[in-house]
Amino acid sequence: MSLNYQLFPISKPAKGAGGKTGNWRIVRPLVHEDKCVGCKACYIWCPEGTIIIKDGKVAVDYEYCKGCGVCSNVCPAKAIEMVSES
Ligand code: SF4
Ligand code: SF4
Repeated sequence: MSLNYQLFPISKPAKGAGGKTGNWRIVRPLVHEDKCVGCKACYIWCPEGTIIIKDGKVAVDYEYCKGCGVCSNVCPAKAIEMVSES
């Protein structure tokens, strides 16, 4: 019997199907690099896949970030602050 299919589904973060966020977001995550310990929890849990990790640094793709605050809530180092969009 051939098993040419994936036995276990693997989900990967991806940009939201609705596209760019536009101007309706009211808060945005601000990463305090001095507090970040590089655990990648924010990267794993962001439902929009908008956390970027490069050279151990965390950045946010604000074009797609929805401001949901999940990253801030899961960060064990309290390195992500949700700030007003204004
Ligand atoms: S606020 Fe939400 S969408 Fe934006 S980076 Fe954090 S988890 Fe992702
Ligand atoms: S969850 Fe917090 S400590 Fe971990 S990588 Fe993201 S910003 Fe850094």
